[in-house]
Amino acid sequence: QPRLFSGMQPSADSLHAGNYIGALLQWRDLQATHEAIFCVVDLHAITVAQDPKLLREQTRRTAAQYIAAGIDPTLSTLFVQSHVPAHTELAWILNTITGFGEASRMTQFKDKSAKQGSDFTSVGLFTYPILMAADILLYGTELVPVGDDQKQHVELTRDLAARFNSRFGDTFVIPKPFILAESARIYDLQNPSSKMSKSATTDAGIIWMLDEPSKTAKKIKSAVTDDDREVRFDRELKPGVSNLLTIMSAFTGTPMPELVASFEGKGYGDLKKTVADVVVAEFDPVRARTLELLDDPAELDRILATNADRAEALARPILEKVYDRIGLLPRR
Ligand code: ATP
Ligand code: MG
Repeated sequence: QPRLFSGMQPSADSLHAGNYIGALLQWRDLQATHEAIFCVVDLHAITVAQDPKLLREQTRRTAAQYIAAGIDPTLSTLFVQSHVPAHTELAWILNTITGFGEASRMTQFKDKSAKQGSDFTSVGLFTYPILMAADILLYGTELVPVGDDQKQHVELTRDLAARFNSRFGDTFVIPKPFILAESARIYDLQNPSSKMSKSATTDAGIIWMLDEPSKTAKKIKSAVTDDDREVRFDRELKPGVSNLLTIMSAFTGTPMPELVASFEGKGYGDLKKTVADVVVAEFDPVRARTLELLDDPAELDRILATNADRAEALARPILEKVYDRIGLLPRR
């Protein structure tokens, strides 16, 4: 089975509909046909300021939501990034073969740092893609399922792997991005031209997986639409309506043309009501299961520890090979 690696940052109390549709749902299906490794990337989350107590809690919560959404920690490897120090060790080595100009071209850094102002932007945020490259290359990963917001980082990973291999001899598997369909990209309900994001500045446009059902329904009913009245899929002209349709199609499995046809003669009120019902029905059991898992943190921590051991066992030999290739003197 081809090996696959993916992760999410524990950067909020809850994951959102974008994370669920764009990542978790796909991960869940890929488990059956791939040797899957899913990471809670806490070291990525600290590239922006964190509250230590919150980070610890959010790390557990993120792991619990993976499991609640159907990631099976006995089938896949589900662990916390900082539990396997090989990630940061390899990141340092990759830092030394990354061009400054090359790293400067990463658009996510430009976006995120522009929002923060340069005094608050850390060097860690700048080198984030190099840590991500380490995450991927440490496991001989063949496939990296990501949304297109991460595609450029996977390209960098490929470049670094190829460069290392040509300079020091064949070491890394060159991974391929497994780009999830545009139809899996979810946008902010209040601002449907930007993606739904954990770190968005306003809360009103985000459907959180762990929100109370009544809150979720209210948010969906206040989603921005347009002055037109027709329920129709058109990303350009009707981004708000199209976003609601996308969410509904993902949850019901109904193909878009059929879904649109079912709203013929109906208005935005009907659309929003139906979408709210569908979302609440989907997230209700996920939320319940997450809270159950969080009720027993010792058991959750035990699962994470076992999985970290498994990840470590895969990563360590590759890191040792890297150290050997670049000429570090082994400690005897
Ligand atoms: P942050 O704002 O902290 O970067 P995020 O919401 O972008 O948070 P990540 O942890 O960066 O979430 O990404 C986790 C996974 O979710 C990635 O695979 C990413 O491609 C996917 N993802 C994130 N946002 C969306 C979205 N709006 N639609 C579809 N997929 C998404
Ligand atoms: Mg992100």
